Amino acid sequence: MCVYFVLLKMLKTTNKNVFRVVRELNENVKHLGKGYTFHNKLRPSNNRCNFRLYTANFASAVPAIKRIESFKPGQQIHGFTVQKIVEVPELYLSAVKLSHDATGAELLHVARDDCNNVFSVAFRTTPMDSTGVSHILEHTTLCGSEKYPCRDPFFKMLNRSLSTFMNAFTGSDYTAYPFSTQNSTDFSNLMSVYLDATFFPKLQQQDFRQEGWRLENENNQDSTSPIIFKGVVYNEMKGAMASSDSLFAMHSQNKLLPNHTYSHNSGGDPSCIPDLTWQQLKQFHASHYHPSNARFYTYGDLPLEDNLRQINEQVLSRFGKIQPDTTVPDEPRWTEPREAEVYCAVDPMAADPNKQTTISVSYLLASITDPFESFTASVLGSLLVSGPTSPFYKALIEANIGSDYAPNVGYDTSTKEASFSIGLQGIANENVAKVKEIIKKTFQQVVKEGFEDQRIEAILHKIELSQKHQTTSFGLGLMMALLPSWNHGSDPTDQLKINEIVTAFKRSLEENPALLQEKVKEYFLNNPHHLTLVMKPQEDYQQNLDDLEIKKTNDFSSNLSVEDKKKIFEDGIQLASEQSKVDDPSCLPTLAISDVDRNIMRTTIDYQILNGVSVQQCIQPTNGVVYFNAITSLHTLPNDLLIYVPLFSSVITQMGAGNMSFHEISQQEDLKTGGLGVHTHICQHPDSIHKVEKGIMLSSYCLDNNTEEMFKLWHDIFLRPKLEDVDRFTTLVRMNASDLAMSLSNSGHSYAMSAAQSHLSPVSHFNEILGGMKQVMFLKSIAELKDLNPVLQKLQQVASHVLCTENMRCALNASPIFMDTASLHLERFLSQLPGDGAGQTSFMQENPFTTTKQKLHYELPFPVNYISHAIEGIPFNHEDFASLRLLARLMSTKFLHREIREKGGAYGSGALMGTSGNFTFYSYRDPNSEKTLDAFKKCCEWAVDASYLDQDIDEAKLSVFSSVDSPTAPSSKGMRHFKNHVSDDVYQNHRQQLLGVTRDDMVRVAKSYLVNGDKMNGTALLGPDNEMTKNEHSWIIHKEE
Ligand SMILES: [Zn+2]
Repeated sequence: MCVYFVLLKMLKTTNKNVFRVVRELNENVKHLGKGYTFHNKLRPSNNRCNFRLYTANFASAVPAIKRIESFKPGQQIHGFTVQKIVEVPELYLSAVKLSHDATGAELLHVARDDCNNVFSVAFRTTPMDSTGVSHILEHTTLCGSEKYPCRDPFFKMLNRSLSTFMNAFTGSDYTAYPFSTQNSTDFSNLMSVYLDATFFPKLQQQDFRQEGWRLENENNQDSTSPIIFKGVVYNEMKGAMASSDSLFAMHSQNKLLPNHTYSHNSGGDPSCIPDLTWQQLKQFHASHYHPSNARFYTYGDLPLEDNLRQINEQVLSRFGKIQPDTTVPDEPRWTEPREAEVYCAVDPMAADPNKQTTISVSYLLASITDPFESFTASVLGSLLVSGPTSPFYKALIEANIGSDYAPNVGYDTSTKEASFSIGLQGIANENVAKVKEIIKKTFQQVVKEGFEDQRIEAILHKIELSQKHQTTSFGLGLMMALLPSWNHGSDPTDQLKINEIVTAFKRSLEENPALLQEKVKEYFLNNPHHLTLVMKPQEDYQQNLDDLEIKKTNDFSSNLSVEDKKKIFEDGIQLASEQSKVDDPSCLPTLAISDVDRNIMRTTIDYQILNGVSVQQCIQPTNGVVYFNAITSLHTLPNDLLIYVPLFSSVITQMGAGNMSFHEISQQEDLKTGGLGVHTHICQHPDSIHKVEKGIMLSSYCLDNNTEEMFKLWHDIFLRPKLEDVDRFTTLVRMNASDLAMSLSNSGHSYAMSAAQSHLSPVSHFNEILGGMKQVMFLKSIAELKDLNPVLQKLQQVASHVLCTENMRCALNASPIFMDTASLHLERFLSQLPGDGAGQTSFMQENPFTTTKQKLHYELPFPVNYISHAIEGIPFNHEDFASLRLLARLMSTKFLHREIREKGGAYGSGALMGTSGNFTFYSYRDPNSEKTLDAFKKCCEWAVDASYLDQDIDEAKLSVFSSVDSPTAPSSKGMRHFKNHVSDDVYQNHRQQLLGVTRDDMVRVAKSYLVNGDKMNGTALLGPDNEMTKNEHSWIIHKEE
């Protein structure tokens, strides 16, 4: 894989399920699904990090890179030898590759003038079964180590650090442990904990039992209750396998590469997980987590020498060299293509129950370790499937026989030899043959006709734009891009030289204009190593899995003697008591509250009225990129049209406009911009729960010299949107509905949170309509309609309310030399729009609202639950907001994590005080329901008892500040004010309140809001058929037939 591939992904995220994100990050839940805007209201963003990347003369102005000049190949330093130094001016970085003399460990340092420093250590992990050994090991290494023997140091460090990212991933063939932080002491602290965890973990049996699997009484206090399987990974994988997206992608990889490690489920198949023993886990650690099988990565502006010294002293000096037996052999190539059929659960959310089949054809390609081949294949992959102008979009998506591409579609580098897949989901069984035929014909047609030059140009434009567009996660993204091929022995610095690769690609194409057509023949038409995979829904699929689990349980328990059962019960009691013990984290390093800055870094914002419209201008070092945002209000929109707004937002840039067809506008977007985005926008006034702004937000960015063209595209969309083409609309509706339905199993908790809050405040009510289960149900009903013309008419009505300057405000972020020009272009654009731009004085409107108490159960065929309970709250600017926010953090780490994850076996849980003003609890992939609701209640009592330590309060503060102070890219500066009406003064006030919160404050708010208060509350559950909700009449059960 080549770096550019991930850069492109950063531009337009397509969420292919490559990693299981194992740890929840900081305060914000990272799995929040799209359409759910709760956290986006106030994504805490501040300015700790100053990007200084705009300077053209990078080498003389950038200290981090300058320091690298003193290193020379062959130089020895702290046990390492410098092998290579590579300058990459196009990415504003210099890279140093080193190897450790005694162990053979490799280290890549990327020096860049970015203070969001990254560390990662990764191991090649190639399990040869589906017991989930690499995944369970990843969990258990984080449960305590030699130097840090406390329970769960990883989670504890979340509260003792100002990290901007902490996580661990298990991929198909590697396990990676990355973090990032802007603070140098913190960097050293976290590195110490990560190094000790991965190389010297305790791997105790109780950790294996808690994180992996165990047999235990269903009720661990009752020896007569049935004996069942429990364990965090066990439940996590039950949840993961319930997502038909992941299931399909997994089968496709397993069956295309059946000869070695890729034929297994590296996350763990719940039916195989109980075959893993503790001994095997320890053995896997010894053979895989060794320096000789490790790759270290450091990134940012901290000195390389310090990193090398610490890694050598703490770890590498204690090891010798081994020959790790982890090489993945090339897959023996097939002489004949293969076919396979697999099954999944019936999806009650499918718009058409008779169209639930998925088919794809996957081709095995060349090794990902060849940068040029990999680049060519990824460009070819984009040309074939990306966007409406691609041949497969036209042939498959526009055929309107499926709901969307199959989940594995595109070029995939998550295995040593790359693959490319093409196919459809949401088709009728009888159309399988038709899809296969279309795929073959389309390849043949491409060989005959080739690709338009403009499309290749658009891809090269994207690469250029991605190099200039700055993101705060660049260092992390770079690591993720380099690791797959580095993991198999390639030189990571080869992948960094984007310009060289692009130049070589252009040259090859000039020399041989038929290059890509020849590649299509070689990769696809003449490649016998391809797999046709069909997945069909099966009525009793989940029942069969349940039966299998029962059978497996019986197999284990039928051999149990009375003594064994007694032991199981005692072990259960023992584990629970270990989990309940107060643990001493004092062995762990920590930052202090004094390390937190007292003041926010303020952003200078200017205002202008252009053509009657208020325009916020923020001058930033944007590297020659201009960022445009606009919000247009929905206040004149009749209530019954509100539910159509997400659909409107999703399709309005994709239907064609002006003289352009939807193909042409998509082409222009790719050639001139980083894409045009339209999203629903809801915001609650910082001072009042009843004041709400509803609108849509338009966003786009482009290279400075394309600004006029960018506004021309918006101009056509505003003045002449084509909301008539019903065939095109049908395609988009299907894709949207299928996307939303798929998001349920991955983001069930965010839907549960939205539903639980929906009766508590106006903003939550609107959030539910625009992005909650209400919207999911609505879109499903639309997708079921025979005639979509009436819906198109509704969207036209929406357009007439929002596509004008009447209720609009704009924001520009641009570099100092370009702001004036950008403003002129914007003014010209605004002058051509309808409306007099009267510029409302306030965008907020009063919304009379009566809160009601509700308990909702959305019955869905998941093997696990997503539960939320919410309590009516207060606006952001309220004096108690900071106390509640800290309390939520404290509850998450000190109570809910232990009760719901460790004891209950759920994958995740927490409490949040979001800017919708409600106090909300949630659980994620949870085997329990009643017990979890009970834990939420007990958690409130625990908060009133306040038996926690003062140190715990400081930790909650650090943890909150690690998200409050997360870095902000130049494109996002000033956006907190623009979107949420939170000024720097208001934000500074919140910061001071957070710093000043005391134990008494937290007890007081716990009492008055959560326990004794007269506050309204709501509860929601997404999950299977449930005795509790059936028996208690207060529950309203929604069930899709
Ligand atoms: Zn996991």
